[in-house]
Amino acid sequence: MQWNAWGDGTLAKPLSEDITKLLGQILDLTPQSTPAPTVDQVTLRPSALSVDAHEALAAIVGADHISTADADRLTRAGGKSTLDLLRRRQSAPQDAPDAVVMPGTDTEVEAVLDLCTRQGIAVVPFGGGTSVVGGVSPIRGRFTSVITLDLRRLGGLLALDEVSGQAVLGAGLTAPEAEALLAEHGYELGHYPQSFRYATIGGFAATRSSGQASAGHGRFDDMVQGLRVITPSGPLDLGRAPASAAGPNLCELFLGSEGTLGVITAVRVRVHPVPAVTRYEAWNFPDFTTGAAALRAVAQNGMGPTVIRLSDETETGVNLAMTEAIGTDQVTTGCLAITLFQGTAEQAAARHELTRTALLAAGGTSLGEEPARAWEHGRFNAPYLRDSLLDVGALCETLETATDWAHLAELKTEVTAALQQSLQSTGSPSLVMCHISHVYPTGASLYFTVLGAQREDAVTQWSKAKTAAGDAILANHGTITHHHAVGTDHRPWMTREIGDLGVAVLRSVKKTLDQAGILNPGKLIP
Ligand SMILES: Cc1cc2nc3c(=O)[nH]c(=O)nc-3n(C[C@H](O)[C@H](O)[C@H](O)COP(=O)(O)OP(=O)(O)OC[C@H]3O[C@@H](n4cnc5c(N)ncnc54)[C@H](O)[C@@H]3O)c2cc1C
Repeated sequence: MQWNAWGDGTLAKPLSEDITKLLGQILDLTPQSTPAPTVDQVTLRPSALSVDAHEALAAIVGADHISTADADRLTRAGGKSTLDLLRRRQSAPQDAPDAVVMPGTDTEVEAVLDLCTRQGIAVVPFGGGTSVVGGVSPIRGRFTSVITLDLRRLGGLLALDEVSGQAVLGAGLTAPEAEALLAEHGYELGHYPQSFRYATIGGFAATRSSGQASAGHGRFDDMVQGLRVITPSGPLDLGRAPASAAGPNLCELFLGSEGTLGVITAVRVRVHPVPAVTRYEAWNFPDFTTGAAALRAVAQNGMGPTVIRLSDETETGVNLAMTEAIGTDQVTTGCLAITLFQGTAEQAAARHELTRTALLAAGGTSLGEEPARAWEHGRFNAPYLRDSLLDVGALCETLETATDWAHLAELKTEVTAALQQSLQSTGSPSLVMCHISHVYPTGASLYFTVLGAQREDAVTQWSKAKTAAGDAILANHGTITHHHAVGTDHRPWMTREIGDLGVAVLRSVKKTLDQAGILNPGKLIP
């Protein structure tokens, strides 16, 4: 992963001259006069870890698994939100953890947390570092130093129970590593967020991640059957049986806990056989309202597509103009929907038939297989475009929410207006695109992509737009996040999301598990 951009630099997608010109006109872009700093031009705040603490940590994890080198600190200096990337482009000294510590066993994690509790050192658990909400920012809080606890060494397929259809995975495995290990036995997890190539199993659990195939296989939190968590107060093994009435489910407490309550070291997940077939079909709807009603019919009647998503008119048009991803010239107006069906040949055919009958009845026109295949082919590449857009002076960021079907249209209208007005007030035109990314019987998530023009101070400019969108979300029956989690960026809305008493409950749980408050200060819990 690059320190200042998404993914693997060799896969970067510079914009064509035509697209740059078109965007320049639509968004009134000002070409960047100062090039972004290169890695050797970056200054990091110096490491504040004491020599004693360094030696004690090295004694736990081994001298090879602790680093205060700038190169290692820089790659853990933050996540991958647009704000993170804009900050990496600044020439001022950058925040970074005081050390990167890489434990290899649960016992080492326990010993590191114990030492940090005694010495007052903040700890930021770090999986793939793909957080887009400030979840891995190196915040010291009230402590004098902060370490990043990089969990990548906690890998491995630790157990596979083929009778029950579940596997225990090391928290530090990336999604492709986990899928490769399971595939050796004919199984898969089927969790495909857009950050698939870099995010980790522990990160998915810690943030309640949702993937593109969540309609078929469920969100990551649906897949979790059990967790091993090391807290500063001791270890916990959670999840005894597939279902239990033994009080509140404590696994739930750690799903979405974002490294504030404990370090997840292993995750027991539901797995299924690698699907024998995938069937594809893309659809055109005359407008977003008709398309959303069609998706609702599919979700409420349990027709079982593995993937189902609907772009609004703006997103359909812009994607067509900017990428080859759609792969068809049939979609020029209206809204594009993508459906995929997986399982045995019989299961996939039955699910496909039920869904296509419902979509046809609801006003959809089939576009055939090709656009859906093209979407699948290009689905992990869009984040590279954001870097190219930032390079030419555009602002580009995404945000997401969810609500019930009854409030979906209103929420979409209000969030779009809030974003447009905020960017307009900074002198930037904007394009606000939206798609339904996940569906449920009672509602759906809305995923917004925002394009604008960077003005004087792009960090402040986007922060203002984000605040306007967050306020509009809470005022219109939305949740502040459907799958990106809370981190620092959504924390200001947490009291409105769960209420004063809800916050007090989280604080008291935190007090019990992490009395000194070393774990991820400044994140999630207000
Ligand atoms: C381009 C892009 C696309 C994305 N697409 C999606 C998407 O489709 N769906 C989606 O849900 N999210 C998406 N995300 C957000 C992000 O990828 C997810 O939140 C992911 O689950 C984070 O995993 P990670 O391993 O990178 O965690 P990190 O970023 O390393 O950490 C995230 C948070 O979890 C904590 N944490 C990490 N590992 C552990 C652990 N083992 N124990 C305790 N706490 C831990 C961290 O302290 C931090 O608070 C996207 C992000 C990017 C940049």
